Amino acid sequence: MSSLYIHIPFCHRKCFYCSFVVSIGQEEKQTEYIKGLEKESRSFDGMAFDTVYFGGGTPTLLDTETLKELFGVLRRRFLIKEGAEVTIEANPEGLSPDKLGLLLDCGVSRISLGVQSLNDRHLKYLGRNHNRELALKTYRDIVRAGFKNVNCDFMYAFPGQTMAELEEDARAILELRSQHLSLYTLTIEERSRFFTKGVSLEHQDYQARQFAFITHLLGEYDFRQYEVSNFAREGFESRHNINYWTGGDYIGLGVGAHSHIKGRRFWNGSSLSSYLSAFQNNRSPQEGEEVLTQEQQYIERILFGLRMKEGINLEAVSKQYHCALDEQRKEMIELFVNKGLLIYNNHNLTATPEGVLVLDEICSKLI
Ligand code: SF4
Repeated sequence: MSSLYIHIPFCHRKCFYCSFVVSIGQEEKQTEYIKGLEKESRSFDGMAFDTVYFGGGTPTLLDTETLKELFGVLRRRFLIKEGAEVTIEANPEGLSPDKLGLLLDCGVSRISLGVQSLNDRHLKYLGRNHNRELALKTYRDIVRAGFKNVNCDFMYAFPGQTMAELEEDARAILELRSQHLSLYTLTIEERSRFFTKGVSLEHQDYQARQFAFITHLLGEYDFRQYEVSNFAREGFESRHNINYWTGGDYIGLGVGAHSHIKGRRFWNGSSLSSYLSAFQNNRSPQEGEEVLTQEQQYIERILFGLRMKEGINLEAVSKQYHCALDEQRKEMIELFVNKGLLIYNNHNLTATPEGVLVLDEICSKLI
């Protein structure tokens, strides 16, 4: 499995918890950026991909000509395999039926829609550029355009959000009957308006209660949890993300994009200006790299595997990376098993529902 990620850092920059995007208004920058992506893609000419993911920012805010040019780069440089999963991140605003038609014609097979909430008070609080009505209309337009694979992002743990509000919001999004749902807690990025205002988040215990409540509710709507924060109907799991979580190879193009090829990880600078100036000076935008040891790849595989519902088969990964757990990690795992946070059965290690709530802590102890 091989994946391609293309980062489009442009957006309207309105959300109060977000900081790292570039204003969509700078058309000349967009054109220059697409040229930069084309130049960068030459280093991976002819590679074949099973999944493609356009992330951002909000790639669908690009105008139709720029989108056509972007997909042109893709087609000219790479082999997108038959049946590939091609995802684009979108927001309810700026996604007209014409643009949806263009995306379908360009081979997009999956839309990841940033709904976040269908509660207008919460959307206003977040500074989101859409309301409930527009989100519902856009979702209908996406389905009417012919997309059969849609993810909805759902955010929770807003300051002051009651469990009753959470249930009403979750049920409203679940009634859309999308094929996939990704859960996010509200996180506040540095330099964002919420950060400057010192907005504080709900206590972790309350967030954990909300998370447990939502995951239970998702079961009622036939969603299967296949990763800590990702839920899907049978067969609609994100192949792109699963490739990340199972140690697969991926190429990342654009500002701040990361790549991984057989244990070598490399990444680009995180500013638009450094990315564009790299090409003006005929040099690579790559800013750093690391070559992971077998041991590092082995441990990462276990930690990512623990995020997956099916867990990780320790015997299989030991064979794959020719590594074994050291005594310290074995004791740590035994401790977590005795605490009812992990289950070890037939070489398979999985997190219990209680373990999922403290998985970051567990993983920090196993690194
Ligand atoms: S839509 Fe996304 S990228 Fe754009 S400002 Fe909001 S959070 Fe940031």
